[in-house]
Amino acid sequence: MLLAKLGLHTVRDVLYHLPTRFEDRREIPPLMFLRPGLASTVRGRLKEVNTRSLRGGKVLIQAVLTDGKGEVNLQWFNQPWVAKNLQNLRGREIVAFGLVREGYRGELEINSPDWEVLEDEDADDFARLVPVYRLTEGVPQRLVRTAARSAAQFFASQVPDPLPASLLSAHGLPSLAWALQRLHTPETLEERDRARRRLAFEEFFYLQLALQMRRLEVGREIGVAFPISRLAGSETPPTTLFGLDQAVAEGGSLWDEVHRMLPFELTGAQRRVIGEVWADMERPQPMNRLVQGDVGSGKTAVAACALLAAVRCGYQGALMAPTEILAEQHAINLTRLFDPLGVRVSLLVGKLTAQQKRRAQTQAANGEAQICVGTHALIQEGVSFSHLGLVVIDEQHRFGVLQRLALRGKALANPDVLVMTATPIPRTLTMAVYGDLDVSVIDELPPGRKPIKTHWRRTNERDKVYEGVRKLLAEGRQAYFVCPAIFDSEKLQTQAAEDLHFRLLNEVFPEARVGLLHGQMKPAEKERVMSDFRAGNLDILVATVVIEVGVDVPNATVMVIEDAHRFGLAQLHQLRGRVGRGSDQSFCVLIADAKTEEAGRRLDILVSTTDGFRIAEADLEIRGPGELLGVRQSGALDLHVADLVRDTDLLEKARQAAITLLTEDATLEHPGHAAILERVRSRRADDAALVVT
Ligand code: ADP
Ligand code: MG
Repeated sequence: MLLAKLGLHTVRDVLYHLPTRFEDRREIPPLMFLRPGLASTVRGRLKEVNTRSLRGGKVLIQAVLTDGKGEVNLQWFNQPWVAKNLQNLRGREIVAFGLVREGYRGELEINSPDWEVLEDEDADDFARLVPVYRLTEGVPQRLVRTAARSAAQFFASQVPDPLPASLLSAHGLPSLAWALQRLHTPETLEERDRARRRLAFEEFFYLQLALQMRRLEVGREIGVAFPISRLAGSETPPTTLFGLDQAVAEGGSLWDEVHRMLPFELTGAQRRVIGEVWADMERPQPMNRLVQGDVGSGKTAVAACALLAAVRCGYQGALMAPTEILAEQHAINLTRLFDPLGVRVSLLVGKLTAQQKRRAQTQAANGEAQICVGTHALIQEGVSFSHLGLVVIDEQHRFGVLQRLALRGKALANPDVLVMTATPIPRTLTMAVYGDLDVSVIDELPPGRKPIKTHWRRTNERDKVYEGVRKLLAEGRQAYFVCPAIFDSEKLQTQAAEDLHFRLLNEVFPEARVGLLHGQMKPAEKERVMSDFRAGNLDILVATVVIEVGVDVPNATVMVIEDAHRFGLAQLHQLRGRVGRGSDQSFCVLIADAKTEEAGRRLDILVSTTDGFRIAEADLEIRGPGELLGVRQSGALDLHVADLVRDTDLLEKARQAAITLLTEDATLEHPGHAAILERVRSRRADDAALVVT
């Protein structure tokens, strides 16, 4: 059967094969009223069909459609089979849809329109909204339309509703039967929207139930209850529930130690978040918390405080970073903080010699290393710990959504887990993807930071940009030059970086010390270049995106990003976060001749704001959630109808509904919830698809 080619095997499949759009044939305007610039439906008789050869062996097919008073040209490039089809249809009535444009002689035309011949039996396809379905080779629109119409008419009413009537009425949602019917045969677009929202709600609802159930399950597990209140000092924020007097009486003061440990005063936001983390750690349930903070908001200090608490309560802590460079940077920073306190930090990464590695592993296993820093491999390679109590995952912008669960299995018992992310995830996405986590936001930057000044310059202004950089170098500042992600090929990127390095070193800044950093260098070389730059022995660092995360050199106050339009917004924001880390004014210059409107929009956003949340929202709008999540499409979230940008209000409703339902029936074992449970189970089985590294 032809429908099977579309994966439609059952009536249910057909009902869920939703129209991609509707053609409003209730009132098709006469052709004389057609205006350029609008996507329009047109109807008329095929007057003539011409095929013209163009330069380069291409063919243009032009068909003139007329309704007696007006005309429009339909044209196709290089589709000879269309011509064959059309030749036989001269004089027949057809309907077409597409963007109307003005041709160069002022005539109206539609390029590559959707079209179909009107048959007598289509009479009832008039004066209504006609659904248009996704097709595949050899399956005619009419066949799908007829099948969907019958299914909607005769079977939709029999589809049982998995959602209880009380829930539907509480949220003003129609029944599934009604929605499925109206999605194919709506009388108005409002009806179609109401029907679509019902299905979108349902998708969000299952997603939220899955996340909330996981949250409840973790909550039922027994983890480590760190006795922090016995250590915490008088400054414990009110979010914690500990007996303060007792803490003071016992003399231990974790906050005092934090003060001694950090070279700066914590911001209010950092203090609040540390309080939330410690409060979680004190509870016997495993912590499952996400800390969100824009680049430079000081997440490392929060991690350090969590680790300190774990160590002072007699446990080991681990810190995992997405790259070796970042792991090393963390190890350096943490060692600097913890050494004076007599707490041992050890680094475990791939580049260690076998002997070093064995030593680090032994120290982790016998508890000598109180804090272990490494990449994800730290846990994956089955390093054993003697008493691991806390795992901090610095994910930066990488979502390893379910990785943390795998990790939970590997470690002893149930360590507390703290995930830190620098991607300011729009609230909607946090809810959709991290709905099983508690979320803390560091919504304040350390004091004295001047917002980075960002400029967008065209390639023909490059020399002026170089002059600007030269001035800053003369003042003793350092600079980054970043090369683009050329078609995501690391090899080409490396080459671009090498070329730029050569040019800057020999031609542009002969007076400066210029270093090069890219992903294909040996770890030891990378480390040498990084530490040279950190120590101020290099003035300029030419790099690929390897410097995107974690690199922290406050004296570097200018970043030049070449071919900036080749980067995604989130990535540009991350890159830019490498400057502006000290109290001096920092600059970011984007060099690009943006060729598309979208690219221009992205660069404009970056110039106009340094607020990561606004950038993330814009990114979500421009690119859709899939890109942002690092998974190809929101299909991985099993969302087919629901739209994370358009349907935010529904997501919130669905979350509330999920929480309400689970308070009544935490495991969904009530017989009335069987259908819901089944859906949630099947989507949880699919969750593996979400694991991204
Ligand atoms: P991120 O959140 O991007 O990981 P970091 O933890 O690397 O940020 O901190 C960025 C820089 O700000 C570091 O140089 C750090 O020492 C500094 N910093 C963090 N917190 C404060 C603070 N409260 N006051 C002053 N400087 C701070
Ligand atoms: Mg960081």
